[in-house]
Amino acid sequence: MNKTKMTTEKGIPSSSRVLMLLGQLERLNGEAVVTDTEAIRQVTGKILHLIQTQEKTRKEIMTKGSSGMEVILSSLENTRDLHTILNILCILNELLTVGGGRRIGVFVSKGGTAVLLQLLVHSGREPTPSEELMLQLHSLVAKVGPKDRKFGIKARLNGALNVTVNLLKQNLQNHKLLLPCLQVLRVYSSNSVNAVSLGKSGVVELLFRVIGPYSKKNTTLLKVALDTLAALLKSKMNARRAVDRAYVPSLLAIFQDWHRNDTRHRHMLIRKSILGCIKNITNIKLGRKAFIDADGMKILYSTSTECLPVRTLDPLVNTSSLIMRKCFPKNRLPLPTIKCVFHYPLPHVPASGPVAQLYSQPPGVDDVVDESDDNEDTEVDTENDTENEEDEKDYKGQNDDIETDLNKLRPRQVLSRPFEELRVYERFFKEFSEDFQEYDFESSRPTSHSAANAPKPHRSIIIPTAQPTAGPWAENPRNQALQPIKDEPPQIKDTPVSLDSISVSKAPESKLELELVQGLSQLLMDGPESVNGGCGIGGSQEDGVEQAVLEVPDTAALLPLHDPDMYLEMVKGTHSVPGYTEVAYPDYFGHVAPNFREPMLERVYGVQRTKIFQDIERLIHPADIVDKLVYDLDMQRCPVIDDGDCLKFNSQFESGNLRKAIQVRKFEYDLVLNSDINSNHYHQWFYFEVSSMRVGVPYRFNIINCEKSNSQFNYGMQVLMYSVQDAISGSPRWVRTGYDICYYKNHFSRSSIAAGGQKGKSYYTMTFTVTFRHKDDVCYFAYHYPYTYSTLKMHLQKLSGLRTPQIYYRQDQLCETLGGNGCPLLTITAMPESTSNDHICQFRNRPVVFLSARVHPGETNASWVMKGTLEFLMSSSPLAQSLRESYIFKVVPMLNPDGVINGNHRCSLSGEDLNRQWLIPSVELHPTIYHTKSLLQYLTAIGRTPLVFCDYHGHSRKKNVFMYGCSIKETVWQTSVNTSSCDLQEDLGYRTLPKLLSQLAPAFSLASCSFVVERSKESTARVVVWREIGVQRSYTMESTLCGCDQGKYKGLQIGTRELEEMGSQFCVALLRLRRLTSPLELRNHHTHLLDMESDLIETRCNVTCPTTYVMQEDEPTFLEEVDYSAESDEENDPDLEAAHQDPSSDPEFNHQDSLT
Ligand SMILES: [Zn+2]
Repeated sequence: MNKTKMTTEKGIPSSSRVLMLLGQLERLNGEAVVTDTEAIRQVTGKILHLIQTQEKTRKEIMTKGSSGMEVILSSLENTRDLHTILNILCILNELLTVGGGRRIGVFVSKGGTAVLLQLLVHSGREPTPSEELMLQLHSLVAKVGPKDRKFGIKARLNGALNVTVNLLKQNLQNHKLLLPCLQVLRVYSSNSVNAVSLGKSGVVELLFRVIGPYSKKNTTLLKVALDTLAALLKSKMNARRAVDRAYVPSLLAIFQDWHRNDTRHRHMLIRKSILGCIKNITNIKLGRKAFIDADGMKILYSTSTECLPVRTLDPLVNTSSLIMRKCFPKNRLPLPTIKCVFHYPLPHVPASGPVAQLYSQPPGVDDVVDESDDNEDTEVDTENDTENEEDEKDYKGQNDDIETDLNKLRPRQVLSRPFEELRVYERFFKEFSEDFQEYDFESSRPTSHSAANAPKPHRSIIIPTAQPTAGPWAENPRNQALQPIKDEPPQIKDTPVSLDSISVSKAPESKLELELVQGLSQLLMDGPESVNGGCGIGGSQEDGVEQAVLEVPDTAALLPLHDPDMYLEMVKGTHSVPGYTEVAYPDYFGHVAPNFREPMLERVYGVQRTKIFQDIERLIHPADIVDKLVYDLDMQRCPVIDDGDCLKFNSQFESGNLRKAIQVRKFEYDLVLNSDINSNHYHQWFYFEVSSMRVGVPYRFNIINCEKSNSQFNYGMQVLMYSVQDAISGSPRWVRTGYDICYYKNHFSRSSIAAGGQKGKSYYTMTFTVTFRHKDDVCYFAYHYPYTYSTLKMHLQKLSGLRTPQIYYRQDQLCETLGGNGCPLLTITAMPESTSNDHICQFRNRPVVFLSARVHPGETNASWVMKGTLEFLMSSSPLAQSLRESYIFKVVPMLNPDGVINGNHRCSLSGEDLNRQWLIPSVELHPTIYHTKSLLQYLTAIGRTPLVFCDYHGHSRKKNVFMYGCSIKETVWQTSVNTSSCDLQEDLGYRTLPKLLSQLAPAFSLASCSFVVERSKESTARVVVWREIGVQRSYTMESTLCGCDQGKYKGLQIGTRELEEMGSQFCVALLRLRRLTSPLELRNHHTHLLDMESDLIETRCNVTCPTTYVMQEDEPTFLEEVDYSAESDEENDPDLEAAHQDPSSDPEFNHQDSLT
């Protein structure tokens, strides 16, 4: 380095004195022994003078290619002369003060940090180090340190920490030297090992001697001291040290003092730094306890309240709020057990299954909270837990869920079951053998398929291996009361259905005053007394009270598939575990999609903070809390308190879900959702009724046991509300409702049993506020547009009535569910044109399209999309006819009727996610999956593998509608593991349908699609049907629960109209797909198809850039400064933050419904 030539060209007359001087300096450095001290002093002194007076000289030294910095550093290394050293340090200080990070970057890259640290250590060894030298050195180090990634380690290894600490000890009153010392300490402390080491050297205590109450003097110094302290307190050991020395009350007192005196808010940053220290101490349990003991909640609550009106003080309010939330004592969820209220005895309980685990706990074990929720922070804080921080930085964010085993990505050729076993499914494919000899094509009247004498649905298949069972239904004592209903003969439909408390009559002209107060409170089915006899209006009241007559809105014209009377009939054949006897009005009246737009809700600034402060007030002013239980499914007789001072709740109807309601304040309720049956979690879906409301008052509702770490409720989604008053006055509809909506982590602890084994987790609150418009209304709230099993049955019956002579429609019962409900299977295609051989042959050989939906009960949107598909398939449009002529559709519209009926969010009665059972479905526990898979296996066995398989789902974390498909190549590309896979041959046909949909359906987004096969999805319908059945175009179609952020519906929440449209556009896309996949048609329609072809070719080219891995959340981290996902130990830890953004590393992610 010493030999480096000045790069300036010698030939050019150099006007630059500084370059000449640097040349001299370089020559002096080159001498073996530095003899001429005076010369060096002179040269460096001149350089310093030039630099101080002429900006351009600084530039000259720092220009690209100049070796000036090397020369200067080399001089600093070589000299022992204090005067020279000070000259050079001053030069460096001048050089690095301006020019921003670039100049410092050059300095660091030339090894400057090490030179400075060595000099620091060397000087520190001298008995009386020069104060001026130490001042200059520390100022420089404070500048350079933050830009050097390895600075913390370098400083420690050089032994520089002690030099600074000693200097600090000796100069606590010397503010001139103290400031750079503290600045350097702050840089040291950013390394966690250093922080521990400095704490041991007593720096925490030293800093506490520097910081103090309000004073206008030395505020810069104070700020640096506080920031250094905060950095040190990130170490648990230092935090404990601070607690032991009672610094928490001191810090609170100092904060209050500044809060009181800093009336003009000049020193907001100092106040924030004090809070920063408290925030870090309260990361440990002892710190939180100390904070509570010191009355920290009240102190920060009152200071924050005073700060709230001043917007510039937001950082203080936000940090205070964060601390208070962290320290808020964990509460117990107000439940006796987190297990579902309802238990369903399974025909057999697999030892390794979730139900065995659920009920294997010895009686008396509390599953709501952990025995000791205090486990965090009790481990001894050693340096080891921070020692390997550098390694952690190398943590690879790569997702290990992507399937890398090529064998698992290749189709499995072997037929898994003997054909003899599959032959029994032949009966579901009569269309393959139908010869229509009895069919009278002349009169165009279907005889074998007339609506009047439609063939009875097939009895469910009895698989020889299955245990004969009388049906678990009968064995459930809870349901015995309902038996008579089940066996009752169907009612005659023409007479009004008489209900317990009201009669329903279709009399729009009726002028009767509606006695809604009583009449609307319940819609009970006739038959024996309700199972919940004590609930609401019972039979005994009937005598005294005149029956109210309920006017049913006439929606026949608007809702061709809806008929209230028929709905009641359907409900009677629906078997629920709780034995519901009530019917919810929305399902009874039906839903007419509103004509107005429903934009996503714009979030009001600070709404989450306001809600959290209201929650904190519960602790501060406990006397204000009503805490009155108003609805409780856990109690046998389910008291509905009616003292006129609180809302009435009800959820005891099909698809209902609400376990408990507690009045917290006059107009605020905490709500607890029920787990899926035979499970202790999966709560997200809700559907309940509210009555006895006051008009014009904002009611706040908090669902307090949500599980997911984030929700679309933070991104514009509103809840759905249905007003019976509105329905009766002509607007029967669900509308997006609620304001002040947000979703955040709360203080209800979640036991490790329900948190995947992790202790110290909390639930989340979803809060919304509603102002009711009508007196004596009955309103319903739901997570998404409800779609019950009874609704499906009604729709299917209505659809079958739409048959024309051109339509071949058949409804079979695929099997019976565990709960004793039929699982419908539909076959839709076009009738053959005639009985001629050619026509029959064309009819039988149409490619099969297999569709299914609603395996996840909480994803009701999937049913609405399916409704759109089915309506299109049954419609009389030429497109629909053309589509029917192209394919045979096999549709299982509801794969999980039991889950839907019982208000589950994700599972079936077996307590399992049915879309994780496709690899080895159990005929007993997962009959719908078992038989659906068998149908597909049968098709493959007879050489009729479907052209397309699509399972409709809903997605709660993303916007738009999109698809997941399967591609070996795109999976392998994601992993970049196997380079030999480049020669993999793969047909790109799987991309065609999504591409077509993106052109046809406004809600569909191609950019959100993915064709990656994940390990965690290996037992889903999509992957199994692709790999085992061999369907290349095997998809999951995900519809948003929230809304769209692209296309025609950008900024709007999704409604049933859009969902149904999606379903019908799916059909149109299939028609286009048919044209593309049929060689004959290709020849006939080549002009039209040229465009499409070129599109596809284009896709083929683009495919080198495969889709991104879609499990990432598409929402940016929420920007409101209160970090609602902050676990006490996580905040501000960059590694953890990164981990947080990668959902795959989030253990919670595994049981969230964003997975298909
Ligand atoms: Zn799903």
